[in-house]
Amino acid sequence: MSHRCHAHGCRVEVAPRMLFCKPHWFSTRRALQEAIWREYRPGQERDKNASERYLAVQQLCVSELLHKRTCGLPSSTASMLAAEYAERAEKHRERAIADGAGDPFESLERRPKKPEPQLSLFGGSCSGGKP
Ligand SMILES: [Zn+2]
Repeated sequence: MSHRCHAHGCRVEVAPRMLFCKPHWFSTRRALQEAIWREYRPGQERDKNASERYLAVQQLCVSELLHKRTCGLPSSTASMLAAEYAERAEKHRERAIADGAGDPFESLERRPKKPEPQLSLFGGSCSGGKP
């Protein structure tokens, strides 16, 4: 059975134990690469039984990659998809915590939050009244 890179829309074939193809892997920030290897359990690609912690980190990687490499997608589509992956990451994370496995994102620095474009476009409207 063929195994493809997990980055959204990427069709490059990779070894079953690899999460991404090289370009996608090297676009992943270091803290996330380390988290993937930390959560990876040898054999999980065969028994299809990856931990919630691994899945949380994996979905977060895919989400962040969509912000970096849009793969020809319009940026609005890319950020919508990124939000969906981030939501899935959050669900796996919650399950991991509920199972007593701990917070898989604990060691990761907070994701840089991008300001909502609408808010900055209409900035000032919430400052409350005119001088
Ligand atoms: Zn790829």
